[in-house]
Amino acid sequence: MADAYRGRFAPSPTGPLHFGSLLSAVASYLDARQQHGTWLIRIEDVDGTRCSPRFQTSILDTLTSYGLISDEPVLVQSERHELYQAYLQQLIEQDLAYPCNCTRAALACYQGLHPHRCDSHTDQPHSWRAHCDQGQFEFFDPIQQQQRFDLAEQPNHPVLKRKDGYFSYQLAVVVDDHLQAISDIVRGADLLDTTGQQLWLYQQFDWQAPKLCHLPLIVNERGDKISKQNHAKAIENGCCRTLKSVLHYLGLRDIPHDYSLSQLLDWASTHWQRQHLTQQNLSLAEKDLDLIG
Ligand SMILES: [Zn+2]
Repeated sequence: MADAYRGRFAPSPTGPLHFGSLLSAVASYLDARQQHGTWLIRIEDVDGTRCSPRFQTSILDTLTSYGLISDEPVLVQSERHELYQAYLQQLIEQDLAYPCNCTRAALACYQGLHPHRCDSHTDQPHSWRAHCDQGQFEFFDPIQQQQRFDLAEQPNHPVLKRKDGYFSYQLAVVVDDHLQAISDIVRGADLLDTTGQQLWLYQQFDWQAPKLCHLPLIVNERGDKISKQNHAKAIENGCCRTLKSVLHYLGLRDIPHDYSLSQLLDWASTHWQRQHLTQQNLSLAEKDLDLIG
């Protein structure tokens, strides 16, 4: 069925699963279940310098302990380099990607952006960048509301394949969401910034982009985003209290006290509503701070 709901959770194994990631996993799972759809897990480990099989195992164990199990075999991006290379080749042949051997120092005056095509050659070690400086994209995000991206406003040509041979998140995520026929993406608002470039890639490949829904960020009492970068701690496996907190921050109320994990997840699947969330950051209450470290 062409219009079947297919959602996914796509963690990068650069550390154990933390509270913010569990929240994204649960939200995407509930959204898929509520719409009688398929829910998948994909391991986004294209960055071989930061990802580790140890964390992949630990993330999958934690998800399983909460009853979050992929409906199809877990897809692992590091096993798909040849596929990404074929799609990169398509872009190169259409002159939509070009080689670049600019150094970080050379781009410092552009705040790390790469705003225009350079005259690099392929006879030296080089990355491949997307020639995306034009394109206007709009979509309605049920939580973040109307979104508009004009790539000409702040041109930046993102890396598609790095100099060290690893593919970028941007290319791999678009290719895999398309090939897995993902219809709906529910993910954190930290990924909103790069959505315009992803929509550009969809347009170049002549693919239809999935519907997008970006969850509010979770912040601590100081307003700092909770991420691996600020040492968010690993969550406990299979913990009812943690799951109840996740459901609370996802806007669910009157959460049953005496339910098991699987009962809670079933209950939440019928009560989850995207409309319960707004663009406002979710600020963690004092009593929940121990969940994040
Ligand atoms: Zn360059």
